[in-house]
Amino acid sequence: MARVAIIGAGQAGLLAAHDLLRHGYDVTVYSDKTPEQFLADARPTGNASRYDMALDYERQLGLAHWEREAPIANGIFATIVPAPEVQLLTTIGRMSKPSYAIDVRLQSARWMEDLEERGGRVSIENVSFERLDEIAAENDLTLVAVGKQASRLFARDDRRSTYPEPQRNVALVNLTGVSQSVPYAAAQDLFPIKVNIYPEWGEAFWIPWFSKDGLHCRSLVFSAKPGGPIDRFGSLADGAEAVATALEVIREIAPWDYDWFKDGELPDENAWLVGRVLPIVRDVVGTLPSGRQVMALGDTAQTLDPIGGQGANNGNKMARSFVESVVEAGEGPFDAEWMRGAFDRFWARHHDIDVWNNMLLDGPPPSGVDYLMAAYGATGRSDDDSPQQRLADAWAENWNDPAELTEDFFDPERVRARIAAAFGGSAEAAIMHGKLEVSRQQLRQQTGLAPKHPGPSVPPTTSF
Ligand SMILES: Cc1cc2nc3c(=O)[nH]c(=O)nc-3n(C[C@H](O)[C@H](O)[C@H](O)COP(=O)(O)OP(=O)(O)OC[C@H]3O[C@@H](n4cnc5c(N)ncnc54)[C@H](O)[C@@H]3O)c2cc1C
Repeated sequence: MARVAIIGAGQAGLLAAHDLLRHGYDVTVYSDKTPEQFLADARPTGNASRYDMALDYERQLGLAHWEREAPIANGIFATIVPAPEVQLLTTIGRMSKPSYAIDVRLQSARWMEDLEERGGRVSIENVSFERLDEIAAENDLTLVAVGKQASRLFARDDRRSTYPEPQRNVALVNLTGVSQSVPYAAAQDLFPIKVNIYPEWGEAFWIPWFSKDGLHCRSLVFSAKPGGPIDRFGSLADGAEAVATALEVIREIAPWDYDWFKDGELPDENAWLVGRVLPIVRDVVGTLPSGRQVMALGDTAQTLDPIGGQGANNGNKMARSFVESVVEAGEGPFDAEWMRGAFDRFWARHHDIDVWNNMLLDGPPPSGVDYLMAAYGATGRSDDDSPQQRLADAWAENWNDPAELTEDFFDPERVRARIAAAFGGSAEAAIMHGKLEVSRQQLRQQTGLAPKHPGPSVPPTTSF
């Protein structure tokens, strides 16, 4: 069977390795870290919360080892906050299947060991450019899955890339000893990814996370527009400072969440991260000095801003799609034309991930705002069968597979059709009702009262 080399033992590289191995390919993974180093010395490369479609792949490969013990997330609870004293709008959608964020350090360590047990090879080396050429010479296909720092080899694909530079300054601080439920949610069986959106300043979101040492945590992700009050993580000295800064920022911009996290602690000294991410799609073909060609995979092929929690999901879907293309090609040849064809196939099915993620960076289109207005009032309770809840649930499901809603979200007619179907009546009336409710809550806030959200919908006949 054909020989495949995979450079990088992250999420994308290891899943492709396991899948190729089960299809009978001769697989070697090259990792710059041993399993022990992943656990003792490494930082997590991200939160990597994954939704059902991506998790399904891991289950099929027999790699979903932690679902019984890890905390779940089962919804998205977003609050739009134009200013700390104004919670303008909440959208609370439930997902039909739980999502998990397993510490990628734990996964890499275990999945490398699993690979060797199943007959694959793992070679510990930091692969240089020159060495990559040697590896490519020894293999029929070489996949480069070394994360987002691979610009030297894989050119930007201008047709598919949207941004010339990073859009946010990002910080990740994991805290253990904190509750998994949202203290003020109407549904106590809802363990959502909590998102606070500040149109001027960026975003902050809190995601259930399972640490390498088995601790239940919330990952706090700060996604800062430069110069605003979230943008305070640039020069941190250590983890203690990361936690202190995170709490300071929360107290200032999301005071309603401060008590939730104030007693939290880092689960281990490496469980934090600061950086900038350039969202980019690359030409997956890298040509080496010898003229040999290697193929990008995962973040190396396409990097997404963390805002939509899509990067690792995207990597899973890409690995699965690439392996399908490999299996169809059998022994190859795995030349440049085949590589680009394999990426085109992935892109045709999954490019909505990019569109959805970019929409979160740029803000919703007017049709999307109408959709969210119509969904206003969803409580997130499992017994809430209101039209608002159905719309909010479809919106939350889109995190799992952005092909579900993304196109419609940008299309005023399709948005109206969805709203009309959910309400069994006029879309305009439903949008107007949502807008009215949002305005009423704003008025409450202007008169010093707490908004009646997050929480149950206020029926149209009730006055405040
Ligand atoms: C703050 C933050 C939050 C995020 N949250 C989410 C989320 O909620 N959901 C989601 O889906 N995604 C999320 N992401 C994105 C997600 O973490 C990444 O998309 C995913 O981990 C990338 O996986 P990968 O395998 O492509 O690359 P990586 O995880 O970067 O793995 C690459 C591996 O290759 C190794 N390597 C590098 N160079 C070499 C070399 N020369 N030789 C050998 N080995 C090498 C690296 O050490 C690493 O182990 C987030 C990212 C960030 C920054």
